Amino acid sequence: MPELPEVETMVRGVRRHCENRRVETVEFCPCPRQPIPVFPDRGTFVRVHGATIESVGRLGKRALLKLNLGDTIVIEPRMTGLLLVSEPPTELHLRMRLWLQPSRGLAATLRFWDRRGLGTVSLLDESQMQQLRNRLGPDALEMTLVDWKQRLAKTSRPIKVALLEQSLVAGIGNLYASEILHLSGISPKRRADRVRGGQLSAMAEAVRTVLETAIRYEGSTLNDGTYRNALNEDGGYQNHHRVYDREGEQCSNCGQSSIRRIVQAQRSTFFCPSCQR
Ligand SMILES: [Zn+2]
Repeated sequence: MPELPEVETMVRGVRRHCENRRVETVEFCPCPRQPIPVFPDRGTFVRVHGATIESVGRLGKRALLKLNLGDTIVIEPRMTGLLLVSEPPTELHLRMRLWLQPSRGLAATLRFWDRRGLGTVSLLDESQMQQLRNRLGPDALEMTLVDWKQRLAKTSRPIKVALLEQSLVAGIGNLYASEILHLSGISPKRRADRVRGGQLSAMAEAVRTVLETAIRYEGSTLNDGTYRNALNEDGGYQNHHRVYDREGEQCSNCGQSSIRRIVQAQRSTFFCPSCQR
């Protein structure tokens, strides 16, 4: 889970508390559970003490805190990570705290919380940051029709599997891939290099529509309740899912077929066999 809309929501939620503020200290919390991976290592983060956060941004499913001295803190929430400026869901799973220069009306700390501990925190210099950008495809919200054409033409994998490939396009995960393909009427099993013409334009438009709408609703909080916005509140897009986790329910588009679930590359795919060809 956290995909592009959820990470964008976290980033927007913490931005005003972090930008142009100095980091006093970085604290890795003593979590008795599986420790999160820290790159290159925890000791290196003393470099952050005294630096100012210039901007807070996003790269695919990662949050970026750009510092004034050229370093960037990269936080990848992966399955259950959250960026918070309020009390975390549990103290037990708090992983990292950035203590910020005190300022009236703003949060004292930025917190990274992660129940399962699969998220990662990295401190990258400019060249390492460039290497990361080179490894990833363009951000899903910045893909043009030409980008889609060129990138999908190179893969014969099913379109649903291709959409999850972060080196092809960054930011889309399992939930939104199913939603995008239902909105654009494309079978998840269709070969990626055969999605062309009107279908491809419909898909490019659906990517934008689904992701931007999900950002407006502040992401999707699923039944496990894990995903929260920066203030530890639920997102709202789960009430608008067209197919995700709706196996057996009637399709809201055709009103005739029921939503089916199949497994592709070990992940569940939800789709309507009538609407998606
Ligand atoms: Zn349908």
